[in-house]
Amino acid sequence: MKIGDTGVVTIAGGGLAGALLAAMLAAQGLRVEVFERHADPRLGDPPDGRSINLALAERGCHALRLAGLDDAVDEFVLPMTGRMMHDREGRLTPQPYGAAGERIWSSNRAQLNCVLLNGAEATGRVDLHFGRRIETVDWDARQLHFSDGESRSFEVLIGADGGGSVVRRAMASHTDIGAREELLEHGYRELSIPPAADGGFAMDARSLHIWPRGGFMLIALPNLDGSFTATLFLPKDGDPGFSALGDWPAQQAFMQREFPDAVPLMTDMQAEFRDNPVGLLGTIRCRQWHLGGTAALLGDAAHAIVPFHGQGMNAAFEDCEVMGRLVRDRDRDWSEVFAQYQALRRDNANAIADMALENYRVMRESVADPRFLLRKALEHELERRFGDRFIARYSLVMFHRLPYAEVFRRGNTQAAILETLLDGADGLDDISFDQARRLVEAELAPIRS
Ligand code: FAD
Repeated sequence: MKIGDTGVVTIAGGGLAGALLAAMLAAQGLRVEVFERHADPRLGDPPDGRSINLALAERGCHALRLAGLDDAVDEFVLPMTGRMMHDREGRLTPQPYGAAGERIWSSNRAQLNCVLLNGAEATGRVDLHFGRRIETVDWDARQLHFSDGESRSFEVLIGADGGGSVVRRAMASHTDIGAREELLEHGYRELSIPPAADGGFAMDARSLHIWPRGGFMLIALPNLDGSFTATLFLPKDGDPGFSALGDWPAQQAFMQREFPDAVPLMTDMQAEFRDNPVGLLGTIRCRQWHLGGTAALLGDAAHAIVPFHGQGMNAAFEDCEVMGRLVRDRDRDWSEVFAQYQALRRDNANAIADMALENYRVMRESVADPRFLLRKALEHELERRFGDRFIARYSLVMFHRLPYAEVFRRGNTQAAILETLLDGADGLDDISFDQARRLVEAELAPIRS
């Protein structure tokens, strides 16, 4: 079926990616319907306790700008200009992000979702259906079956229904899409740091706070109301691990030993350990992201990743941007559009999945290590001197829009250059910057974005 002959595009899931995709397809003149299992988040409390705030970075910001939703989002995001490391003695080490002005944004998931849904609805071409849980997909009849027993036909279906995607499972049971789900041995639990007695922030509000502890870590991101959402990442089993921290005395003793400066600020910790579930984390990769011109996967449904680079939503927004661009040509078939979308996105999704896994090790281990800090200092110095060719991989992911797969390749080359330069060096004074220039110019092409 050609884009121009399509009556309605059906989207499964009205979360972050589904809502933005609906807005972007409608902006291209398509009619869209969205089926979301939860109630309309604009009418009440957020549907579940999933990571209350998310780091929004340049890739996501760019997609929001294209959708004309950046101003609405600006109203509730907070800038974070670097990391703040907390050691076991409560000493703080600020680590500003790369160049001046580089920042990521702490954004409230529910508010973001509401802005995206409003944006979709404002196009006048999107019908949003809430409280509609898709149970199965009948590919032969092109029908969705809902949990309430009703069914609905579709012409073309896009699964933006998250990591547990019903659309992906239905595709996989129809044909081999090479779907692999790898669970991480670590889980997470959300905790919180309420505002200080004076209503202000209890810690620096312009930082992403990290308590790296080797095998595990705590992080915290600021919220507009003066609170922080903290997340404890810990192995599910073993010791320390969530299962070993069975009761409150064990939980309290562990938290006090490992995070002594955070615990006095976490006044609801006992209830949160009792009430907040341990969330699962994992990576999902698929070899095939579409069924001809019938259906495609987008966002976490196609490529859930672990959250340690803060890029899952950002990558999902890039998917939306690409899909929005590809449907502009109304003479093309959906099968062509979906094939090209997969060609443009799949290797990039695999690359950010790998970088997110690597970043977990970096965040919980290396950030506290002097060798890591020297490497970081050299990275900054190379970026300062040769910024047209050398930019730290973290910055390329967070503050640029170079495709992830290219960032991954560049990152490997840059890592080899850093290793060569750091061999036998104890400080920046030991580095030969003539050698650095030769290596950078020989091995790294100028950066295009
Ligand atoms: P989802 O947000 O999961 O949305 C899927 C939607 O589909 C939901 O609304 C769901 O209700 C609906 N749905 C599901 N099944 C059905 C069904 N059967 N029928 C109808 N509707 C259905 N990303 C970042 O970029 N930055 C971060 O800082 C960050 N931090 C994170 C921290 C944690 C702890 C976690 C777990 C994730 C984090 N992420 C982060 C990742 C981010 O949350 C996801 O990548 C993002 O939510 C993906 O959006 P999505 O719309 O594809 O999926």
